Amino acid sequence: MTALPPLRLYDTRRREKVVFEPADPSRITMYVCGPTVYSRAHIGNFRPEIVFDVLKRVLRHHYGEDAVWHARNITDIDDKIMAQAAETGRTVEQVSREAEGWYEEDARALGVDVDTVIAPRATDFIDQMIAMLTTLIERGHAYAAEGHVLFDTTSDEGYGSLSRRPLDEMVAGARVEVAPYKKNAQDFVLWKPSAPDQPGWDSPWGRGRPGWHTECTAMIREKLGPTIDIHGGGQDLIFPHHENEAAQGRCAHDGGGSDEFASVWMHNGFLSMSDEKMSKSLGNIVTVPKLLEQGHRGETIRLAMLMAHYRQPLEWTESLLEQAKKRLDSWYRKLATGSAREGGTADPDVVAALSEDMNLPHVLARLSGIDDPALLRASGQLIGLLQGDPRGWAQGDANAEKADITARIAARTAAKAAKNYAEADRIRDELASEGIILEDGPDGTTWRRA
Ligand code: AMP
Ligand code: ZN
Repeated sequence: MTALPPLRLYDTRRREKVVFEPADPSRITMYVCGPTVYSRAHIGNFRPEIVFDVLKRVLRHHYGEDAVWHARNITDIDDKIMAQAAETGRTVEQVSREAEGWYEEDARALGVDVDTVIAPRATDFIDQMIAMLTTLIERGHAYAAEGHVLFDTTSDEGYGSLSRRPLDEMVAGARVEVAPYKKNAQDFVLWKPSAPDQPGWDSPWGRGRPGWHTECTAMIREKLGPTIDIHGGGQDLIFPHHENEAAQGRCAHDGGGSDEFASVWMHNGFLSMSDEKMSKSLGNIVTVPKLLEQGHRGETIRLAMLMAHYRQPLEWTESLLEQAKKRLDSWYRKLATGSAREGGTADPDVVAALSEDMNLPHVLARLSGIDDPALLRASGQLIGLLQGDPRGWAQGDANAEKADITARIAARTAAKAAKNYAEADRIRDELASEGIILEDGPDGTTWRRA
């Protein structure tokens, strides 16, 4: 057996690639910030989900199938959820449970190993959050004021070490409220009061609810421990979210601020569309069900998402999906030439590229150079691809094509019903140019190939 290459990961805090050295190689702890569940997530939200799913597979390959403890929060109490509930006349719980279900369904469709993710919901850990804040206050790292609990940023020497922002930028960047009860402008809220009609929990500081940064730190401590090996999320979370999580983690830990909360901090680049970060507020979003409806398969979407280095931005386009589909077509054609054996050994070059801070462009290039079906399948497994039946892949094409033709025929029928004959003719001509002939009969429209 050849020895495994050392696993090197880019650490945002140290601004360099470091050799990964887990505290306990038989129990590797990884936490990735998850969704605030108030509506259907867009595919940008699934970039971290897929990137860290790949990292989990790499960690398992290096340290053993059962060695990885991977947690991801569900933020089920937040102003956005409250607003959505008010708007739709439902409870916060109804809104958040529904969106959580969608999130899991979409992640699963993208080949994410959802079943091994520890997924704590914020509202199940309010007691632990209150206990953590009590500790922070006792140690002089936090203070209560007018129903709020705030973190005293001047009490933590390491504050700012993750994002390396100068103080004035931190204040501006966090868009922190100027409030009379704050000791320092950059102090952030750990707990806030709830109005009588808002969800809230009793606490030593009155009825209220936790801040977002508090949720993650408390759940990490509860589910994984006071310090962890890897903390991940999108680049937008470095400041203020991760800076604030880290400050709380350091100061709540018995080491009293000397131990880092996470030894490696990893951040994925943004998925953009029309050159802007994909985000709900900008409106430039695509969802997983929309793409599936258009005939794209989950595996194609997953590969499209892996077509750039995880730290680089990635522009979402039709052509990106086409390229991903073409690659999968050619790989599956190779798989079809051999027997679909399970559990082979992965290609050493693929393992080496993955071990070098998940160099995905190298991995994909190498996969295209592999001709042996068993080797290709075992290597694809490391990035969560190529585990399907090769014949099924080719048939999926036929099914997607049929669904697409049926949908366009339905659109033509609807256009005719609306007396929009120009549009109806356009659809018929477009299909004809692709070699699909329509025949109108008493029972509706059928099609055949020319
Ligand atoms: P949010 O629900 O906005 O808090 O985001 C959940 C996760 O998705 C976080 O790790 C974000 O950094 C990440 N994320 C959100 N939008 C994008 C995007 N356009 N590209 C990549 N990651 C994103
Ligand atoms: Zn978080």
